[in-house]
Amino acid sequence: MQLMSILKRMEIFLRILLSTSCLLLVVFMVDCSPPENHIKCSSANTNCTITNSYGTFPDRSICQAANVAYPTTEEELISIVAEATRARRKVKVATRYSHSIPKLVCPDGQNGLLISTNYLNRTLEIDVQSMTMSVESGVSLRQLINEAAKAGLALPYSPYWWGLTIGGLLSTGAHGSTLWGKGSAIHDYVVALTIVSPGGSKDGYAKVRRLNETNSSELDAARVSLGVLGVISKRAIDIDIQYTKGDCHLQHFVTQNDRAGDPDDRGSTTSHVTLQLQPLFKRSISYVVKSDTDLGDQVASFGRQHEFADISWYPSQGKAVYRVDDRVSSNTSGNGLYDSIPFRSTLSLGLAVIRATEDTQESMKDPDGKCASAKLITSTLIQMAYGLTNNGLVFTGYPIIGYHNRLQSSGTCLDSPEDALITACPWDSRIKGEYFFQATFSISLSVVKSFIQDVQKLVKMEPRALCGLEQYNGILMRYVKASSAYLGKEDDALDFDITFYRNKDPAKPRLYEDILEEIEQLAVFKYGGLPHWGKNRNLVFSGALEKYKKAGAFLRVKEKYDPLGLFSNEWTDQVLGLKGETRKNLSRRKGMYPRFYSGAVTARDEGSVTADGLVVLQTQNQELLNNQ
Ligand SMILES: Cc1cc2nc3c(=O)[nH]c(=O)nc-3n(C[C@H](O)[C@H](O)[C@H](O)COP(=O)(O)OP(=O)(O)OC[C@H]3O[C@@H](n4cnc5c(N)ncnc54)[C@H](O)[C@@H]3O)c2cc1C
Repeated sequence: MQLMSILKRMEIFLRILLSTSCLLLVVFMVDCSPPENHIKCSSANTNCTITNSYGTFPDRSICQAANVAYPTTEEELISIVAEATRARRKVKVATRYSHSIPKLVCPDGQNGLLISTNYLNRTLEIDVQSMTMSVESGVSLRQLINEAAKAGLALPYSPYWWGLTIGGLLSTGAHGSTLWGKGSAIHDYVVALTIVSPGGSKDGYAKVRRLNETNSSELDAARVSLGVLGVISKRAIDIDIQYTKGDCHLQHFVTQNDRAGDPDDRGSTTSHVTLQLQPLFKRSISYVVKSDTDLGDQVASFGRQHEFADISWYPSQGKAVYRVDDRVSSNTSGNGLYDSIPFRSTLSLGLAVIRATEDTQESMKDPDGKCASAKLITSTLIQMAYGLTNNGLVFTGYPIIGYHNRLQSSGTCLDSPEDALITACPWDSRIKGEYFFQATFSISLSVVKSFIQDVQKLVKMEPRALCGLEQYNGILMRYVKASSAYLGKEDDALDFDITFYRNKDPAKPRLYEDILEEIEQLAVFKYGGLPHWGKNRNLVFSGALEKYKKAGAFLRVKEKYDPLGLFSNEWTDQVLGLKGETRKNLSRRKGMYPRFYSGAVTARDEGSVTADGLVVLQTQNQELLNNQ
């Protein structure tokens, strides 16, 4: 007991130290080590391995590839795809940081090819008249936001982390939060894209398709493709940029990159016409803390009332933090900035102590310790306005008012030069830092109230069970809209982002694993939740494709674009139901409902559990559950 209380006190001290260091980091701009390259080759670009930004896939394996290519132009990209097609090699596109959790990026086996979009990272054109912006697919979200802002424009909704690339975030259906306009997913703002896929001999073994909203319904397959249709390429994406009220002055930007060499651009206007632009819109943000008693009743109307609404839910504390966030007139004074605390450079030493404390809480089965930690973390984040400041330096109170591009996304831990890992992104695998899993699914607004109430029933039975999630800042709930993309959202829905402890030892379960399993099962099987394609353990993908009305159309496009399945891998084949076994097992699993329903199957009831959430049921479900 004494040991526990010493540990707790130490942890509280260190968390305060960490919070303070976060502030210091902002004020003094301490450097941190940027993430390492997740592709490693034993000799120049050959004999390579690849992992994700967390340094670990769900099954903890490292994937292999015979070599990696770094095209710098669309022409190079086409010839690389052609060569791979001729040789019938497996191909996967890799991005700068590889943020997706599932094994999307692995070419099967050891002989595959990785095509990196590292050097396909140019903004090509911003055409204010048509309100479009064209970029290469390796452009990061941060670049896109900044370039648009320089032209006085704004991407209206976006993920909250700016390290993602356009190719990666489109392939996985990434989003921010809104029920307004076309919704929060960036793929719904794409009006045209170019994709390079395997071709026949008459195409020179690579086929280039330039899809837009008028020439092809196949654009709706390519909006969210899991990367299985080919490479989204140069001059790929025209993102519909939205204006605030009023009209723009016309301006046609061409970036520093010379477009003369682009055959697709021959004949298009290249003259520079510089006119004054409409200023960016401003937003006003306030966080409001409330009891979660009526959360189920509130969620739908709250999302409709506020354009950028989201909710952070702390179920074990019975609290929900509502983000009241709307556009305001550009005359409103304020220069707010968002620099998300969890996305900042953090002292490695502090992260190691926090992780050690969490490991101890898990191994000693200490939910009270976890609940105390959770309260400290969440209250610190709330007090620090989650990283919002009124002027880029300090938080003095709500509302935070500022330009959209300064508030929509962040990720400063990506920025800094090497400092021998004294600081790093909190999840950097080179340090003893965060090691977690994420379950992320969206539930239709028509049934979300019941889902929330079911989770609340579980919390009533086990009040301390979800403190572990709150150590990772609770459940982030964001709004998404029905999409025309074949693998986009089917309904207007609420997306739940749940982050939780993962043990370094795959044989060890986490505390209250059974409750987490029940929540996932409720979401996926009872409420028909759809997965976030770039996150999750495998359970959330169970039977997923059957929930998409246009799944058949997607598979037909895939067959047309890549009949040999060169851009597919074992994981995408399973998720897309192309491997028979998965489907067979999915139907068996359908009977599994949480234990306060009849027939519940939980870790605690039925078998042992691993740290990866692998319920070892000794049944035919084993195959499905493998590779969690
Ligand atoms: C800290 C953090 C915060 C996050 N925040 C959010 C958030 O707010 N909202 C949200 O929705 N998601 C969020 N995510 C998840 C994220 O959206 C997905 O993991 C992401 O979209 C991956 O982007 P990436 O550029 O890293 O792509 P990768 O993970 O590298 O690639 C994803 C897939 O796309 C394919 N691909 C990449 N580029 C191309 C291309 N040019 N052509 C064809 N295929 C391609 C890859 O082969 C792979 O199959 C977050 C992730 C992290 C790590």
